[in-house]
This record gives sequence, structure tokens and C-alpha cells, in this order.
Amino acid sequence: MASPMSPIEAAKLTLPDIITGHTAGLSVKTNSSAVTLPVHFPGTGEIITHLQEDNAAQVNSAVDAAKVRFQTGEWSQCTVDEKQRVLRATAQAVRNQAQELALKESVCAGLPFAHLAARQIPRAADNFDFFADYIGQLAGETYDQLPEYRTVVTRQPVGVAALYTPWNACLALSSMQIASCIAFGNSCVLKPSEFAPLAVLQLVQLLEAAGLPSGVVNIVNGRGSVTGAALAKAENIDRISLTGRGATARKVMAAAATKLTPVHFELEGKSANIIFDDADIDRAIDGALVSAFGNSGQICIAGSRILIHANVADRFIEGFVARTENLKVGDPLDSTTEIGPMAFAQHQQQVLEHLALAKDTGATLLTGGHAMPELGNGYFVAPTVFQVSDNCSPLCQEEIFGPVVTIQVFNDDEEAWTLANDSRFGLIGYCWTESLQRAQAFQQQVDAGTLWLNTPIARDLRAPFGGFKASGIGRDGPRHAADFFTEEKATIAALGKPTLRKMGVSRH
Ligand code: NAD
Repeated sequence: MASPMSPIEAAKLTLPDIITGHTAGLSVKTNSSAVTLPVHFPGTGEIITHLQEDNAAQVNSAVDAAKVRFQTGEWSQCTVDEKQRVLRATAQAVRNQAQELALKESVCAGLPFAHLAARQIPRAADNFDFFADYIGQLAGETYDQLPEYRTVVTRQPVGVAALYTPWNACLALSSMQIASCIAFGNSCVLKPSEFAPLAVLQLVQLLEAAGLPSGVVNIVNGRGSVTGAALAKAENIDRISLTGRGATARKVMAAAATKLTPVHFELEGKSANIIFDDADIDRAIDGALVSAFGNSGQICIAGSRILIHANVADRFIEGFVARTENLKVGDPLDSTTEIGPMAFAQHQQQVLEHLALAKDTGATLLTGGHAMPELGNGYFVAPTVFQVSDNCSPLCQEEIFGPVVTIQVFNDDEEAWTLANDSRFGLIGYCWTESLQRAQAFQQQVDAGTLWLNTPIARDLRAPFGGFKASGIGRDGPRHAADFFTEEKATIAALGKPTLRKMGVSRH
């Protein structure tokens, strides 16, 4: 009797042989002379399909397609009702195909399937519904202070946006970027991560099946240094929005500067999770595990620097380390897996290099700190906890982007705020306390775009999301998206015939 197929063997049956980009009129065309890149399953390291890389000419075609579609007005000028219909139908289609989308994301990036299906894919659907609702509430402004004049402020879409997304939540973040861009009537060219190209391709197909004209959303695929760089340099790009690393943002910003193209960046984090001695310590342990190890620690919002009050340090550390050692690491397609592999081999190496260097920094390794060859050839790193006393340590200052967390002990509130802010990043602040005064001080003292009090991760899509300092420029969120993806126009109209100054009627 044939042995039953493993989850990855079954998944491979549904994968295309080659993944292409998606441009109006050119979708799913393969090019035999194009560079192809292997796509590995991070759970075993095996090659599961290939990605066809788009070069500068193909990137320019995609931008042209987006521009042409924008100019036809078929989407940019269609009614709000029609835009809402397409966005809502897409949201529903994403929900209907959640399992398939989660599988595609999981086999590329190695993120645990169960987490994707339960959280990230529903979030992707919600993003479309959210922007459908939001554009129904958009209002213009009128000003009547000048007698005999009325000033009306309206918004119009900007044109074509270049959107870049990373691999660690590719579909959820791409859906946010696409929804916030097209809801206002723009077209776009999306450059998803070369490590997670599959699910977004299906998303664009769902958008078009819902009625989005082809050419409004285009996808270009390939390495950042090739395809991504070509997109940043392309003509006719009116906005650039990137979620990724600071190093990438600097290169993209340099290209944008040559044309004064506005940018929006959502970047790295190294967020402090402050736990006071009056906190509910059991809940704080639950929350710290979610914020440090969710998404296998590969998440910008990770609470990867735990700051614990000295009075409760022993109790917290004992409980936290025991639970860390109990995390289930393994095949991302197994629905019981809590921690999957790192997304690609080079990333695993970088995480392991951080761990090796940590041995020279005086940090105390409490658990983990190594690869997991016992799990096969996948890119696994054991969930790792260090106790650190020096906040200058690279362990506390660099975004490691893996299942690695530091614990630092503090003695008073001032020390906690100082440690939390002693970072070049400012994405998230976490705090656990039962004291109203401390909660208020946390809100005032910690320099971060989002503060989570007595909870690991909760997001109201109406609120802005983004970072202080090197964590970003601008914000996600509806008001900011409206400002970024539209141009405001003030029209001043004479209501009657106000007196005009007469020029050129008398000779001097
Ligand atoms: P990355 O910067 O390497 O890649 C992001 C995108 O840019 C990818 O599509 C990539 O191909 C492209 N790119 C890379 N180099 C490029 C170049 N030279 N020119 C143009 N494009 C280029 O980031 P990543 O490794 O894919 O993602 C992980 C990073 O993203 C982490 O630092 C994480 O903190 C950050 N992130 C931030 C948020 C947020 O909301 N702040 C959310 C998720 C991830």
C-alpha cells in the first residue's frame, strides 16, 4: 500500500511550475529567456517551484499598464458604489479561499499555516471591507469666510503607486497596501517579496474576478536588487509605499528623491515589553510569548526586549523560560505547530550569527541559541531567551527577526522608560500594569507609534499604525492613506460678481 502523502507533497500538487508576474494583457505569460529563481519550502529546504524574475523592461510595461488604466478613468473615475462593490466582493472571495491562500503563504515563507488561516488571511479580507466602508464616509470641505466666495476642497487620486511588501505577512500587508491605494481610485504596481510571491498572485486574480479592471493592480516579481530597484527608478510613479527593512527604504528613498516622489515607509522594530511588579504576571507571560514568538518571531511588532521589574523577575523568568521550552517547533503545515522555520536559508544564517555573536557580549543564555538539525533540513532556530544587562548589546539594539528574545531587569519606573526609549526604533511599546498612573505615564513616556497596554496585539483599523524614528515615515490607516494616495485641490469660486481690481485701463 502506498504511504500517505506528507502535507508538503500534497501542497506541491497544487503549485504552478513557474510563478510569473501579472500585468494587464500579459498575465501568466512565461518567458523562456527570463531569469528564474528557485522557491524553497522552508520546512524542508526543498525546491517546490520557480519564480520568473521581471527585468526593468517588464517592470516598465507594468507601470505603463497601470498608467494607461488610470488614464482611461475606468477605475479612477468610477462611482464610489462600484468601488465598494469590488472591494467587498474581493473581501468575500478572500474569505472563501482562506485555506488555499494560507497554504500558498505557508509553503513559501514557512509561516505556521494555522496562524495564517486564523489571523492573517481574515485580516487581508477585512482590509478590503474596511476601505469599502471608509470611502463611503469620505467628505469634502467647504469654507465660507471670504464674503462672495466659496472655497471647496476636493481630493483626486494621485495616479500610479509602487507598492513593496515583505515576506513575513505578505498577503496581509499587500492587501492593506492595495486596498488603501485602489480605494481612492489609483492604480499600482506591487512588488511582493521574492520569498512569498504565490498568494498575492491569487489575490490579484480574485480582485479582477470581482470586477477590478485589469491593469489597475499589477505584480512584478523578482529580487529586490533587480526588480525592486527597477520599479523605484521607473518613470510615471507618483507614490512609493514600502514595508520592509530600513536598508531597503534608504535605497528606494534615494531613487524617489531624484523625482521628488513622496514615500511612505513601514520599517523595523525592536520593541520593549515592560512588565511592572503590579501586573498580572500569568497574563504577562501569556502576552510576552505571543508578542515575542508569534509568526515564529519574524514580525516587526515583536516585543523582543522584555523589561521586567526586579521584584517579580525570578517568577517571570522561570515561567517564561519553561513555556518557551514547551513551544512546538516544526512543520509549518502541521496545524499544531507554534513556531515554524525561518523563511529562507540566508535569514536562518543571519539569526544564527546573532546568536553566535551574543556569546561575546556577556549575555546569559537561558534557553535555545541553536539551529535544530533534528528537524531535518528546514531552516529552524530554537526559541531563544537571553538575559542581558547592557542595553547597548546588539541583542538589544538590532532587529533579529527570529524567535529570539532578551530579558532585562529594571528597578524603577524611570529606568523602564529610559531602557524602552534607548533604541533607534520606535514601532511598538508594550506595558503590563494594574496602575492607572503607570498606564498614563507609559502613554506619555514611551516613544512609539502604537502602545499596547495589558495586551499583546490588537489593531483597530481606524487608528494610525506606524513608527517613530527609524521605524518608518508616515502611517498606515485610513486618514493617512487618504492624504498619501490623493491630492487635495482647493477650488475658490466667486458666488456673484465681486468687485475686480481693474488693471491696464489708464496710461501713466
Ligand atoms: P526587505 O526590505 O528586504 O524587502 C521588502 C521589499 O522590498 C521586498 O519586496 C523586496 O524584494 C524589496 N527590496 C529589497 N531590496 C530592494 C532594493 N534594493 N530596491 C528595491 N526593492 C527592494 O524586507 P523583508 O526582509 O522582506 O521584510 C522584513 C522586514 O520588514 C523587517 O525588517 C520587518 O521589521 C519589516 N516589516 C515592517 C512592518 C511594519 O509595519 N513596520 C511590517 C512587516 C515587516
